[in-house]
Amino acid sequence: MSREAFQKLREIDSLLKMKIKALALVSEQDDRLSRLQSQKTDRLEQKDQDKKLYTQTQQNLFEMEKKLKTASQQKERLEQYSPDDPKLKELAQTIEELEMQGLDFITAIDEIELRLKDHDTFLTGVTKTIEEITGEAILIKQKHQQEADNLTLRINLCTEELPSQFQQTLTRLISKNLPQAPFTTIHNQACYFCRSSVSKIEESEIDTKFAIIHCKQCGRLFLPYTAVHA
Ligand SMILES: [Zn+2]
Repeated sequence: MSREAFQKLREIDSLLKMKIKALALVSEQDDRLSRLQSQKTDRLEQKDQDKKLYTQTQQNLFEMEKKLKTASQQKERLEQYSPDDPKLKELAQTIEELEMQGLDFITAIDEIELRLKDHDTFLTGVTKTIEEITGEAILIKQKHQQEADNLTLRINLCTEELPSQFQQTLTRLISKNLPQAPFTTIHNQACYFCRSSVSKIEESEIDTKFAIIHCKQCGRLFLPYTAVHA
């Protein structure tokens, strides 16, 4: 390999980094939307549960009122026809308990109503936000996707200028989609990315003979010092 080819690689390296950044900005918009979407879904589930609870509590209140009515009628009859019946005390106790239960149900219903209102306020807001930012997100995504596509073209052009045998190595390397970059440098006798050590012999081959050597650990290709610091 020649020094010029490695300088081309350095250019490809910086183009690839720019492309990764552009693609990250594309997915940032997707993440932003899906975060809001999942907040909306969560809240819809909560609303659904509260609606069920509301119906159930109203049903409980209705049942309780029926029991209270029956107990009150019994009590009235006994008071009228058998005022000394020991059952009267028992009935008074039952009625008191039922009335307490009723109060609890009414309190619960009030609380659920407040929560339902809160869910609706939140849902209206989040739906509006999603509507507002969807259009904006599409534009931002298009812009960064366009940048990424342009960079792909430039990367391809640069690649075509490389020796043909090396183009295949490079295409394979890029297709691995290594995080941050497919290239690395030697820093303090180790791979800059993964810190795997590099021997003096290898370092000299890379720097003086422009040998094609990959990091044993992370698989990135070493760029020679002169190509990086040209
Ligand atoms: Zn490495």
